[in-house]
Parts: sequence; C-alpha cells; structure tokens
Amino acid sequence: MSFKRRVQLFITFLVLLVSTVLTASYLYQQDKILTERSVHSSQNIKNIFDMILKDLDHFYTYRAYANLRSAGIKEAMLSRNKQELYELTLPRYRTLRAENPDLFIMQFHASDGRSILRMHRKEVYGDDIASRRPMLRASHSSRLVKTQFEGGLEGIAYRIVVPFVDNNKYIGALEFGIDPDYITGKLMETTGMEALFMLHNSRMAAADIEKYPVEYNEYRFSHFGSNQRALVENYVKDNPEFNQRIIHLGDKDYDAIPIYVVGSDGKPLGLLLCFNDLTRGTEDIIRIIAGSFMITMIMIIVLIGVIEYIFSRMMRKMTFQEKYIETIMNAQQNLIIVMDEQNIMYINHAFLEYFHYRTLDEFRKEHGSICELFETGDNESYLHSEMEGMIWTEYVLKYKEREHKTKMTIDGKTSTFTVHVQMIEFENKHHFVVVFTDITKLNNLATLDRLTQIANRFEFDKMLGYSMSVSRRYMRSLSVLLLDIDHFKHINDRFGHLIGDEVLKSFSTLLCQQVRQSDAVARWGGEEFIILLPDTSLASAIKMAESLRQRIEVNPFATVGNLTCSIGVAEFNPVEEADDLLHRADQQLYRAKNSGRNRVMA
Ligand code: GH3
Ligand code: MG
Ligand code: MG
Repeated sequence: MSFKRRVQLFITFLVLLVSTVLTASYLYQQDKILTERSVHSSQNIKNIFDMILKDLDHFYTYRAYANLRSAGIKEAMLSRNKQELYELTLPRYRTLRAENPDLFIMQFHASDGRSILRMHRKEVYGDDIASRRPMLRASHSSRLVKTQFEGGLEGIAYRIVVPFVDNNKYIGALEFGIDPDYITGKLMETTGMEALFMLHNSRMAAADIEKYPVEYNEYRFSHFGSNQRALVENYVKDNPEFNQRIIHLGDKDYDAIPIYVVGSDGKPLGLLLCFNDLTRGTEDIIRIIAGSFMITMIMIIVLIGVIEYIFSRMMRKMTFQEKYIETIMNAQQNLIIVMDEQNIMYINHAFLEYFHYRTLDEFRKEHGSICELFETGDNESYLHSEMEGMIWTEYVLKYKEREHKTKMTIDGKTSTFTVHVQMIEFENKHHFVVVFTDITKLNNLATLDRLTQIANRFEFDKMLGYSMSVSRRYMRSLSVLLLDIDHFKHINDRFGHLIGDEVLKSFSTLLCQQVRQSDAVARWGGEEFIILLPDTSLASAIKMAESLRQRIEVNPFATVGNLTCSIGVAEFNPVEEADDLLHRADQQLYRAKNSGRNRVMA
C-alpha cells in the first residue's frame, strides 16, 4: 500500500474513532437526560392528574351550586319532593350529560343522609346511603365539599359532593360522579400517553365486575384500548410490585408509570397506569447517529481529498526535483553511481558511456558490483573491494582526507580515477553516492616520461618505496639494474637529436619487452634507465642484466644500427634506504663504464 493510502486510511480511522467516541458520549449524556426526563415525567403525570381532578372539582362544584341555587330546588329538597326536583333538574342534567358523557352520577342527598333523588336512576331513592358512603358522611358532618374516588351503587367513580347550606340551615348535598375513564381520557388527551385505570380488588362493587374484568395481582383492569392489553401484559409480567419500569413493545419503548390512588380510608383504591412513549428518544438517537455519520463521512471525504491534493502537489514537486537532480547528474563528466550496501541503484550517463552500456540493468547482468572492475596491481594506494576489513565505500569514507584511486580497464584501455564517497542514511539503511573522476591524463603526465611513455623517476621512487616495504615485510629479495647507453652523445652528434629520441623510445620498448610482468622499467634521466626486480636475488639480477645486455647488443636500432649499454646491479639490503641502494647501483654502473663499457657490474 502506498504511503498516501496509509495516511488516508489512518485519518479515516482516526476520524471514525473520534466521531464514534463523541457520538457515544453525547448519547450517554442524552440517555442520562432521558432517564431524568422519565423521572420528571412521572412527577408531571401526577401533576396533570391532580390538575384534571381539580378542574373537575371546580367545574362540578360550580355546576352544583348553580343547580342548588336555582328556583324551587331548595324547597323540593326540603320537602323531598322527588318528582319536582327531577323536573326542575332534568334540563340541566341533560346539558351536563351532553357536556360530559362520563358524568354518570347525579344525586340529591337529604341532610339526614338519605338519598332524595338519583337523576341517573330515578326509581331508587330514600335509602340511607350515607351509612354506606364515608365521603357522604364526611360532607354532611363537615358541610364542606368532598371530592375523591369512591365506589357505590353504580361502581367506582370520581365523586364530588357539594353540601347545600342556606342561612345556616343545612339543606343537604348534591353529588356528581364521573367515570375514571374520563380522567384517563383527559390524561391521554393532554399528554399523548396511553393511560388506564385499575381498580383494587377490595373496592370491587357489583357494578364494576363487568367493567373491570381482568384480574392481576390485587388489581382489576378496565376494558383495554387498542394496544393497551399488550402494554399491560408487558408491564405486569415479572412485575408483581407494579413498579415503574421500561417496557418494550414492537419497536417502541415505554416508560410505564403507576400512580396509586388511595381511598378516604388511606387504603389502596386504584391505580392509574400511564405509558410514556420513549420511542421519540430512540428516534432522536437514530437521528443523532445518522447526523454524526453524515458529518463523519463528509469530514473523511474532505480530508481524503485534501490529502490527495497535498500528495499530488508533493509528487509533482518531487518529480520535478528528481528530474533536475537527474539532469545535474547526467551533465557531469564524472562517473556517478548511487548504491546501497550491495546493489547499484542509480548510474549516470557518463558511467554508461564509459562502460558502453545502455541501461543499468545491462550493466547489472554482467557485473555483480562495481568493485569487481577495480584493478589493484602492485600499488597499495589503489582501492581493493575490501580494505582493512571494511568494504571499500566505508574505507573511503573513513579516510576522507586521503586520495583514493582506482584503475578500471574497458576494451583494453585503462583509466585511472579518483574516488569520492558520500553517505546518505535513509530509513536506517546506508546509501552511498560514489563519484569517479577520470584522472588518467593528469596521472600519466605526473607519472610517465613524456618521451618514452614509461614510468618517470618520480613514479619509480613510489614503486621502489612500495617494493622495499614488501621486501622488508615478507623478507623477499629485491634488486635494481641501472642502465646507461654507451656513447650516446655520438649518436646524437652523428644522427641528430631527433633520431636520438627515437633510439631512446625503441630502447625503452625493448627493455619493457625483455623484463617480467612484475618488473618495472623507468627512465632515470637522459639515456639512463632503471629496472626494479622484485623477488630477485643479486645472482638472478646479474643473470638477467647479462642477458639483457646481450639482447641489446644484438638488437639493430633503426637508422643507428647496433649499440651497447653498461649495467650496474645492486641488491636491496633491508636495513638501508632507497638512496643507499641507488647509490650502490650507480657505483657499479660507474665501474662498468670505467672498465670499458658494454658490461654488467655488481
Ligand atoms: P658514456 O658512455 O660515458 O655514457 O658516454 P655518453 O656520451 O653516453 O655520456 P654523456 O653523459 O657524456 O652524454 C649523454 C648524452 O645523452 C648527452 C645528451 O645530449 C644525451 N641526451 C640526454 N638526454 C637526451 C634526450 O632526451 N634526447 C637525446 N636525443 N639525447 C639526450
Ligand atoms: Mg649517462
Ligand atoms: Mg651514456
């Protein structure tokens, strides 16, 4: 996966995580609010319930007074003229029933506690009702309005008993009874909740049996509304105490709130059960999650877009940078390579041109590494693939102050390079930029003799130094031959200086051909040459010198014909310095000259 994709994935994950945490904590808060609200709603319902009852109290108290104070009522009550009372009240009773069909009791009571007239059941009258009904007794004795749920001949009802006192004379009372359904209906109307009334078993009257048919745990339920049965069954299940609880029905949640109603004796009378639909809360949760999901998605899309844009800009910039670095590299005449610890990763045009390859892959096919092209020769100062136990790149980096050189041959042409290494550390790996600068020409100028193109005296000194150290270290013999062409002045004099030069060139070529690969021939100056013979004892050196002298003696040089040379031989003694060795060779050459030339002296 690309770095960009990884960044995008990470940001997506991060945004999702943050948004999930935020949403979850918000929902947790909401849940707490909801629970609080549910406690509140239980209180609210009680308040609403009380308000409905108070409204009933006020309304029917005033209706009662209006009726009691109408003309003829007082007289009819006092004379217990049932028919008169009925006729006077009927229009008003009809209006009240039309206003509220749940008003099903309207009854006139005499001051002695007997019933004068039941508007709803005219045929039953004169009974001592107060003896059965505590609230009537209370009203009669206190002459105060009494309101509460109470059972009776017609069953359970919310009753309002209004006493009638005229000029301090107690006339009697008027009672209204309202079906509890009116209250649950009002409650449902005001709050939008399902509500139903349950009657306690102990309050059951004959009239209630039909109305409250289902019994459960001391309470009897009234007839059920559309989904009330399911709600109630859910509520009562495993809930013998009839506690407030959350119930699930279908895909809805309800807070089932019981409101206990006690009778005037303080004992349970009934229970108002309300179902507060919490589903709106669930819908809220879904709405919140959907909203946060939308916002999250938008954020992710925007962030991914921003990352895409930034990366594409970066990529364009990097491509441009790569291009100009490549251009700079390819404009160089130096050979440049970039490599890690094993492989070459990049090479410039000059490198390909020098080695005659078209691509890096072509080069790689034939060469495992660049260092296998290094020619080490007998010179210690040239780079080997491994030096002092380090790979060459590390060695060059360690000895930055030194000049590091290497020779590489391609198609028989050897070139000398100086080598510079720079290290780049990237992702815990070492990379090296290696620059090879071709110094063949400069090198030749400094080390080769201009005329004969063999090593000059300066170069010879270096080779001698190296050979002496090898000889000392490994106890190897080492000898030198110092040669001087005899009577060279005559050649110059006779054939001219240019011919003399040609002779010097042919002479050096001849020397090079005659010596071994490991030997080194150098021009010592003028018509003098020196040959370095590693691994050669004095005796072998004399032999070699003699055979060389003989070979020269018989060699016909162009234009000038034959010539001879004198040779001084000296073997290196490990305790002496280079000058001592050369001085001894020179002395032997001097002796050879003095002894008649064309000879070897040691
Ligand atoms: P001897 O046998 O004693 O060595 O006699 P010689 O004449 O060889 O020695 P000498 O030292 O008297 O002369 C060396 C001559 O070599 C003198 C010089 O002109 C000549 N010579 C030196 N270098 C060059 C060169 O580069 N080119 C030519 N053509 N001649 C050179
Ligand atoms: Mg000489
Ligand atoms: Mg000479």
